[in-house]
Amino acid sequence: MDSLFRNSGQSIGVEQKKVGHKKQIIRIIYFKGPVSSAELTRNLPLSTPKINSLLQELISDGLIRELGPGDSSGGRRPAIYGLVEEGFYVVGITINVYRTVISVFNATNKEISGPHSVAVPMQRDFDMFSRINEKLKEILTSLTIPAHKIIAVGMEMPGLVNREHGVNKTYFPGVMDLNSRISEIFGYPVFFDNDARIRAFAEQQFGLARDRQNVLMVHADWGIGLGLIVNGQLYFGKSGFSGEFGHIPMLENGELCHCGKRGCLEAIASVAAIARNARRGIEAGHASLLLNLVGGDLQKIDTNLVIQAARSGDQFSISLLTEAGQWLGKGITFLLQVFNPELIIIGGKLAEAGQFLQAPLYQALFTYSNPDISNDTELVFSAMGVRAGTIGAAAFAIDKLAS
Ligand SMILES: [Zn+2]
Repeated sequence: MDSLFRNSGQSIGVEQKKVGHKKQIIRIIYFKGPVSSAELTRNLPLSTPKINSLLQELISDGLIRELGPGDSSGGRRPAIYGLVEEGFYVVGITINVYRTVISVFNATNKEISGPHSVAVPMQRDFDMFSRINEKLKEILTSLTIPAHKIIAVGMEMPGLVNREHGVNKTYFPGVMDLNSRISEIFGYPVFFDNDARIRAFAEQQFGLARDRQNVLMVHADWGIGLGLIVNGQLYFGKSGFSGEFGHIPMLENGELCHCGKRGCLEAIASVAAIARNARRGIEAGHASLLLNLVGGDLQKIDTNLVIQAARSGDQFSISLLTEAGQWLGKGITFLLQVFNPELIIIGGKLAEAGQFLQAPLYQALFTYSNPDISNDTELVFSAMGVRAGTIGAAAFAIDKLAS
């Protein structure tokens, strides 16, 4: 990001400090939207003349522009400043166990390219990052963006991630500097975090958790993760490994989970579990539209198709989603009793099945939890869609770069 600012020839220390302040101004406008200099004064420990002078420099840097007068609280209407759309760009990458998705965003968080799906799943092979970078290079070449205007790459990935130390203990145990190793491959600063936490951050900044204090963001996808917002702050836990919600034990001697234990929530209510149950049910003789949708090849059944069949009224598919909703709801009850959240957001692939999950989820919450708590909790489905991960990852990179 430093390369975006002109060098005023001041001493290195003064220059660094100034660049730090400029980054903070950019960060505030990126997350809050256009602001007046008075609003910046309230958010930064700097005087109004200092902020005005930095704003003028940022205008010369081509990063900020004056949008005209804003609302007045009496007196002269203050000038409002916004980011120049093409002032810089940031890349957001989602890596999951099936594939990678890449999007490029401009400075005002508009997706200018993507989502691009890449056939590179999360794996224990460092070469995966080089393959993702090859695809990113292709995309950037087609966009003809000057390289220095790409300021950072944000990534979400599954696993036990400690973002402060750049560790993904699940996939790269023993590697302590994953951040810098991936940054080296990409040639840009790369920042990553666990997918459920990136989703919670995305909802907090741009979605349903905005201005909310206590929120459970349940990332219900191939696995079931949890992003926690407590007193308005993302919660990490001692080692950054909080949110392993999918591995709470729900059943004695239940289905074997990929974590090695049996009966985990993830093994009975995730996207993978729903698809598996669909295949098994049809093999056992259940009639279903799914069989036609895959031309008789049961291996082709995935949860996208189960949701599609349910929307067409397929009774068996609806029953699979209902059952998943009941288990998920029962699991969420534990969290509800412990955290007393104001809002539960269901995100990930299962958010697309909201119309089938809402009733069983509420039923489970009312059945298993204290009514004083459940009656006071709102349950919603994420509206951010497939871009939640890439937008969240991109925003996370900006946040880290300017902090
Ligand atoms: Zn497990």
